[in-house]
Amino acid sequence: MPVTLPCPNIRHFSNAADFRKNFIIQEQIDKYLPGGKHFIDDALIRSTLAKAAAEPANDKARVREILAKSLAIKTLEPAEVATLINVTDPELLQEMRETALKVKQFVYDNRIVVFAPLYISNLCVNRCAYCGFRGDNAQEKRRMLTMDELKEEIDVLAGKIGHKRLIAVYGEHPLTSTEYYAETIQTIYDHVVKAPSGAPVGIRRVNVNAAPLPIEDLKVLHEVGIGTFQVFQETYHRPTYEKLHPADTIKGNYDWRTTCFHRCQEAGVDDVGLGVLYGLYDWRYELLAVLLHSRDLEKWFGIGPHTISFPRLQPASGTDVPETSPYLVSDDDFLKIVTITRLAVPYTGLIVTARERAEIRDLCMDIGMTQLDCSSNIAIKGYSDFANIADQEIDRQQFLLGDPRSLEEMVQVAAKTGRLVSFCTAGYRCGRTGGCIMDALKTGREGKFCKINAVLTMQEWLDDFASPDTKAMVAPIIQKELDEAAKMLKPEFFQVVMDHYRRICAGERDLFF
Ligand code: SAM
Ligand code: SF4
Repeated sequence: MPVTLPCPNIRHFSNAADFRKNFIIQEQIDKYLPGGKHFIDDALIRSTLAKAAAEPANDKARVREILAKSLAIKTLEPAEVATLINVTDPELLQEMRETALKVKQFVYDNRIVVFAPLYISNLCVNRCAYCGFRGDNAQEKRRMLTMDELKEEIDVLAGKIGHKRLIAVYGEHPLTSTEYYAETIQTIYDHVVKAPSGAPVGIRRVNVNAAPLPIEDLKVLHEVGIGTFQVFQETYHRPTYEKLHPADTIKGNYDWRTTCFHRCQEAGVDDVGLGVLYGLYDWRYELLAVLLHSRDLEKWFGIGPHTISFPRLQPASGTDVPETSPYLVSDDDFLKIVTITRLAVPYTGLIVTARERAEIRDLCMDIGMTQLDCSSNIAIKGYSDFANIADQEIDRQQFLLGDPRSLEEMVQVAAKTGRLVSFCTAGYRCGRTGGCIMDALKTGREGKFCKINAVLTMQEWLDDFASPDTKAMVAPIIQKELDEAAKMLKPEFFQVVMDHYRRICAGERDLFF
C-alpha cells in the first residue's frame, strides 16, 4: 500500500498467518490482569445476580435509594445494578426511566449529538460467527477504500449531508494496517468541501471502531488526532466468546480484547467507547460485566468509558446467528438495558445506532441516550455509490440497519420534543477529554460549554444545509437556548457568546468554546 507515515515501531506483516501469530503482545495483557485474575470476575457476576434474584424484587425503598445515588451522579455498585435488573413493577420501572432522563438532562442537557458511520474496509481475517465481514463468508463483496474513494464519501457526508463527526469502521486485516488507518483518518480531516451554501465544510472529529491494537499502534492513532477509540467486547461471557470467535483468529483472544482500553490510556487515547453485542449471551450478565469493565478502567486510570454503545444482533450476510441465538433481546429488555446503564454510569455518553428501528431510538431519547447516527449507510462506498443514502445491499455491508432516517429528519424529530441536535466537536479540540471531561460532566460544568457549542454548530448546519421548514422549526429552540445561556452565564461571557453567534450567522465557521 502506498503509505509512508513515519511510524518506525509499526510491524509489517506479509501475510495473514504472520499477522495472526505476531500481533498480540502478551506483556501488554498480563500487566492489567495482576496475578492472572481477570477484572471480568465471572464468579462475582454470578453470585451478585443470584443474591439479588433471591431478594424480594420491587423493593421500593431500596430502588429509590439507588435512584438517588444515580441522581447524585455516582457510579453504581454491581449489587445495586442487579437490584435494578430484577425490577418488574411497571410503576417502579417508570420511575427508573424518569430518573434516567433526569440524570441525562443534568449531565447532557437537552442535546443529542449526531454522527455517521463510515465503513472504510470489510477485509477481515477473523471469523466472528454473527458478522457478514467474517473472512470465510464468500458472499461478501470485499473492498478497502482508496484515498480518492474516501474523498468521494466525504464529499457526500460533509458536503451534501452536513455531518461533522464520523466513526470510521474497519475489519481486521494485514492490508488495512495501522498506517492505513492513520492515512485514511488524515485524508478525512484534510478533505474540505463546499456546502450547498458555498461555505467550506469538513469532518471535525473522527472516532474509530476497529480491532484492539498494541500500544505503539494506538500512539499512532493518537498522533493523527482520533476522537474516541471504540471496541465492542461482543460478549463478556468467556465460553460464549470463545465459541463465537475461533481460537486460531486474533479476535479469539478474549484477554487481548478486554485489555484494549487499558492500552489506549497508556497510549494517550483517553476517550474510549465500550459496548456489548446484545443477543449473544444473557443481557443481565453483560450489563454487570460492562460495569466491572468501567470500574476497572476507573481504578487504573481514574477515567471510565467516554461512551457505551448498545449494538443488538441484526441479520447479516451469510450467517443465521442473529435469528438462532437463544439470547436475543426483546424490545422491552433492550429499553431496560439502556435505562439501567444510564443509571449505573451517569456521566458516560450512551450511543444507540441505526441498527435499531426508529420507534426504539425515539424511546431511547427519553431514557438517556446521548448520541445517535443518522443518514447512515454502512455499505463500503455506499454514500457515493447509492442513488439513495438509505439504500442497503446486504452483501456489501456488515448487517442490516433498522432506522433509515436522514439527518434533516432527525433534526426535526428532536425539535418536536424541544431537543437540539449538536455537532459539537469542541471538547476534544480544546483538550477536554478523558479525566478532564469526566470531571466536568460529573459536576454539570461541561453542559454549559456544550449548550453554547450546540447552538453555534446547529446554526451553522441550518444556514449551510437546512430547508426553510427545518429552519423555522429549530429557530425557537435556539432562541430558548440563548435565553437560558443569558441567565446561566456571567454577562461578559454571554456577550462573547453572542458575538460568536452573530459571526456564525454572518457566515464565519467553526467558532467554539
Ligand atoms: N472488526 C472490528 C472488530 O471486530 O472489533 C471492528 C468492528 S465491526 C466492523 C463493528 C461491530 O459491529 C462489531 O464489534 C460488532 O459488535 C458489530 N456487529 C457485527 N455483526 C453484527 C450483527 N450481525 N448485528 C449487529 N452488530 C454487529
Ligand atoms: Fe471481522 Fe469485526 Fe466482523 Fe469480526 S466483527 S468478522 S473482526 S469485521
